[in-house]
Amino acid sequence: MPLIRFLIVGAANTLVGLSTIYFAMYFLQLDIVHANAIGYSLGILLGFALNKTWTFSCRGAVISSFIRYLLVLAVAYAANLATVLSANSHFNLNPYIAQALGIIPYTVIGFMGSRYFAFCTQRGIDMATDHLCETAKFNEKPMIPRMIDVSIILPCYNEEAVLLETTRQLADLLKQLIIDGKVTPNSRVYYIDDGSRDRTWEMIESLAETHEFIHGIKLSRNRGHQNALLAGLLTAEGEAIISVDADLQDDLSAIKKMIELYAAGYDIVYGVRDARMTDTFFKRFTAKVYYRLLSSMGVEIIYNHADYRLMSRQAIEALREFGEVNLFLRGIIPQIGFSYALVYYDRAERYAGESKYPLKKMLSFAWQGITSFSDLPLRIITSLGLLVSLISFLVTVWAIAIRLFTQDAIPGWASTVLPIYFLGGIQLLCLGIMGEYLAKIYSETKRRPRYTIEKMI
Ligand code: UDP
Ligand code: MG
Repeated sequence: MPLIRFLIVGAANTLVGLSTIYFAMYFLQLDIVHANAIGYSLGILLGFALNKTWTFSCRGAVISSFIRYLLVLAVAYAANLATVLSANSHFNLNPYIAQALGIIPYTVIGFMGSRYFAFCTQRGIDMATDHLCETAKFNEKPMIPRMIDVSIILPCYNEEAVLLETTRQLADLLKQLIIDGKVTPNSRVYYIDDGSRDRTWEMIESLAETHEFIHGIKLSRNRGHQNALLAGLLTAEGEAIISVDADLQDDLSAIKKMIELYAAGYDIVYGVRDARMTDTFFKRFTAKVYYRLLSSMGVEIIYNHADYRLMSRQAIEALREFGEVNLFLRGIIPQIGFSYALVYYDRAERYAGESKYPLKKMLSFAWQGITSFSDLPLRIITSLGLLVSLISFLVTVWAIAIRLFTQDAIPGWASTVLPIYFLGGIQLLCLGIMGEYLAKIYSETKRRPRYTIEKMI
């Protein structure tokens, strides 16, 4: 666990750095600036060496990662200094307590920066995707031409602006696939209306009347993208089911490749975005950090894969066995197993309408991904507890030393009240995270139906 190792390295650093500072100040009679310079330099060198070789097991590129590490530390140190100074001057805290408080932003920024910037930035993702690509290559089987009975499912939430164009493109695609002898003539499309408030369902009804291959599933209310997808996956007929968004962001021509790979023997074919230039910088950046975070927490997901994928009947039946209410399909489907392959495509702009994933929904989806598949947040509590105990121990030793060896022991409120606040905060945080899991257990044990189909056509 990189975080735990990082914390241990951090504790070792701090211990070495702080003892050097105190040693330099009290025994060598250096002023605080020089003592700090020596202490921090030693800490930095030790931290770099340990983090590089042990925490992140990063090989090669010593100088460039050292420069990046220094940059990270500069930012972390600036945050540390700002905390120390403001604690000291604005809140009149004792300089030693202020120093101890400064360790917190220093550690947080230091870890994030080291993990995602200074050392082997590609590591987490490469490990995940390398492994997947290898499996895909390993599983390559000769193509056997045969017609597949396919269903394409599209969740729709207030998508009246795109439905006509999507239907036109899907009709062209299916026609071509039938002509090419890749899919059976009775292959079909399901629109799943996720409780839309606009005319989406009326449009689906009229499209189903004019096009034989169009079917509709209407959920009784808005249950969210993932539940709508699941409703489609578990309801649609056909030997292979392809899920894709209704807004034409995902290149429909990848469907042909998916079907070819399915015919070649793969049970699951993941659509992977090649370029995300059409997404905002913010969305690309947060997605990247998020994928890394997930893979570093041991959650198996496919990098840059959204919910554009083909699944065989066998894989769907396996998915049916997963009864969880907190749905994060991207995390569940790799757990099903079976052979799989990747298809790369470019992601386009949304054809019309606006994204149904505002920041709030995106954040809750991201949180779902973490808490549904990883118990790391729970384990961090232990590390946090260890770190806090270590700091408290150091402060206690220091307080006793001040009391025994100096005349400066002024009984102030800071040393009494601060630890109470500090520990109170940590405890609340821990309780919050535990509550998060408790809430999950609660909703899972209720076993409520995940969707309700109102009618089918
Ligand atoms: N969607 C849904 N229910 C929701 C939100 C979205 O069925 O509560 C559908 C939406 O109609 C679209 C797909 O999920 O077909 C992806 O949504 P969107 O394109 O808004 O997400 P983005 O591409 O911006 O991440
Ligand atoms: Mg979209």
